[in-house]
Amino acid sequence: MDLNIPSFLRNQGIKASYQRIRIYEYLMNNRTHPTVAEIYNALITDIPSLSKTTVYNTLNLFVEKVLVEEVTIEGSEMRYDIKDPKGHGHFKCTQCHRIFDVPIQIEKIFTEELSEFQVQAQFVHFVGICPDCLKKNS
Ligand SMILES: [Zn+2]
Ligand SMILES: [Zn+2]
Repeated sequence: MDLNIPSFLRNQGIKASYQRIRIYEYLMNNRTHPTVAEIYNALITDIPSLSKTTVYNTLNLFVEKVLVEEVTIEGSEMRYDIKDPKGHGHFKCTQCHRIFDVPIQIEKIFTEELSEFQVQAQFVHFVGICPDCLKKNS
């Protein structure tokens, strides 16, 4: 995907500072649902002035502007994911602790019982053992 991140951010009403650009770029290129610490560790050598607080605040701003989604699965720290307009579910492996994307048409599981509610977010989480770990176990 060829995205001009600075102008993309500006179009979303976000001041496109160098640090914000790099954080957004990192999330685009690493669909691994990184934590604040992982993003910080990946960028600190390139951006010595970066702080964990800046990473955290930038992510919060992106979440507020609906560019990034928070991923929380029971028992794990907050992770971040580029907003996927199609939406997807997540599978958390209890052995290697990786989080996998699961393509799911979330609107298909929308039930009649919710018709009176205003839904603002939908999350589908699976927990179990991933194929790699199953192979290792056997
Ligand atoms: Zn696994
Ligand atoms: Zn995801």
